[in-house]
Amino acid sequence: MFCGIVAGDVPSVKVAEDATTFAFMDINPASDGHLLVVPKRHSKDLFEIPADDLAAVTLTAQRVAKAAAREFGADGVNLLNCCGADAWQSVFHFHLHVIPRYTDKSKDGLTLPWAPVPGDVDTITELGGRLEKALN
Ligand SMILES: [Zn+2]
Repeated sequence: MFCGIVAGDVPSVKVAEDATTFAFMDINPASDGHLLVVPKRHSKDLFEIPADDLAAVTLTAQRVAKAAAREFGADGVNLLNCCGADAWQSVFHFHLHVIPRYTDKSKDGLTLPWAPVPGDVDTITELGGRLEKALN
């Protein structure tokens, strides 16, 4: 679907485009100015995207986030990537959400069910240690 948007076969409200990335407005916005940045070259998700495309998408996201903050007077921005259906990915072409955030909740409908509570220190330490080993 996002390949179709990049190709121009599927209509979108384009915000920015360069040699490797394409940014367009999300049609199901969580807040005023919510948009998506995708690599033009198809990658399914975070695990698959080549490093150069990931870097380019991230830099474009920063550029449009700054513009959204200036232009819309956003008070903050969330970048969100979902990798895998269990992580809420629904379109399997890598995309980074750029979600301007506002103190004024009439412009900002984003809420998450996650309410941080302190975790079990032993479990955190064990998982961190396993990950550190796996990275070496
Ligand atoms: Zn695609």
